[in-house]
Amino acid sequence: MEDNIELVAQWLRQSTMTVAFTGAGISTESGIPDFRSPGGVWAKYQPVYFDSFLSDADARLEYWRQKAEAHTEIARAEANDAHRVLAKWEANGHLHGVISQNIDGLHQLAGSHRVLELHGTARQVKCLDCGMIYEADQLVDEFRRSGSVPLCAECGGRLKHATISFGQSLPEEVLSEATAWCEGCQLLLAMGSSLQVTPAANLPPLAKQTGARVVIINRDTTALDEMADVVIRGSLARILVKIDDRMTG
Ligand SMILES: [Zn+2]
Repeated sequence: MEDNIELVAQWLRQSTMTVAFTGAGISTESGIPDFRSPGGVWAKYQPVYFDSFLSDADARLEYWRQKAEAHTEIARAEANDAHRVLAKWEANGHLHGVISQNIDGLHQLAGSHRVLELHGTARQVKCLDCGMIYEADQLVDEFRRSGSVPLCAECGGRLKHATISFGQSLPEEVLSEATAWCEGCQLLLAMGSSLQVTPAANLPPLAKQTGARVVIINRDTTALDEMADVVIRGSLARILVKIDDRMTG
């Protein structure tokens, strides 16, 4: 493992464009459970599909109940060393940016600026009718106090977390920018994701096809270990700190 850590540090120093891709695994060390795992949010609830949200007031109430509960975890969570190392690499020019499947906003809390959130962010609420953006904290509090679904202060429209629901398509511009990053990079670090579902599963092959090296760092095996140039298994925070030590040392 030490050899691989040294190798990745060397590749990072050489690469003129490195992109990080992160999944739920980077945030489990911040206390946010993987939503697909037992005990995760979707093991407990029936998710509210986007169509129902649009058409049915009861579905909107159920959605807000679930989101208010999940919000506690996200609001309490703090960025960990893995988030911090990525933010540092962006600041010192070693990392172009982060593509993330996570909705917890922890990359930005750690100081990352270029973050493409494929599934949106739970830290904001958006009006589906006029596009107005609100802080989630404030509206979740309001919902907890009143028990009724908040409406847009601008237009009275339907307010939903700025995350992608089941049955809702991924934001086109974000996806095409993520694709461009992967096609343009020399090094892709895919971390904390089992890389089983699209679009996550598509990004490493895309980078590989255009000549990039692919490094996978994850606790468990992933669907794409075979195609990676290097696979490192273990705690993301520990591994990234070790790589960072080799960068500066
Ligand atoms: Zn509105």
